[in-house]
Amino acid sequence: MSEPAQEQTLAEQAPPRYECLSCGYVYEPSKGDSNAGVPPGTEFVDLPAGWRCPVCSAKRTQFRNIGSSGAPSGFKENLDYGFGVNRLTPGQKNLLIFGALGVAILFFLSLYGLR
Ligand SMILES: [Zn+2]
Repeated sequence: MSEPAQEQTLAEQAPPRYECLSCGYVYEPSKGDSNAGVPPGTEFVDLPAGWRCPVCSAKRTQFRNIGSSGAPSGFKENLDYGFGVNRLTPGQKNLLIFGALGVAILFFLSLYGLR
C-alpha cells in the first residue's frame, strides 16, 4: 500500500482538507473525527487505513484534496488515486477460481465420457 504523493505547497503549515466525492463531507484535520476516535490535529494522510467517511462510509480513496481553508486558490490537483486498479472483491475472486475449477472438471468428465 502506498500513500498518495503529497504536494509541497504554501499550505504546508495548514494541513489540507479532503472532500468526500460521494456525499460532499469535508474532513477537517483541525477537528478530526471524534466518532471514529480520531483526535483533532490528525491529517487526512495519517488517518487509520480502515477509516471511512462518517456520513456515507466511502473509502479514503473516494476523497479529494481540496486544500487547506487558508490556502491560496490554485492548489494543484494531480494526486493520483488508483481508481479501478483492483475492484475485484474476494468473493468475485473466489467465483473466478471455482468457476475455472468447474470448467476443468467438466473438461475431464467429458474426456471420460468419450470412452
Ligand atoms: Zn461521504
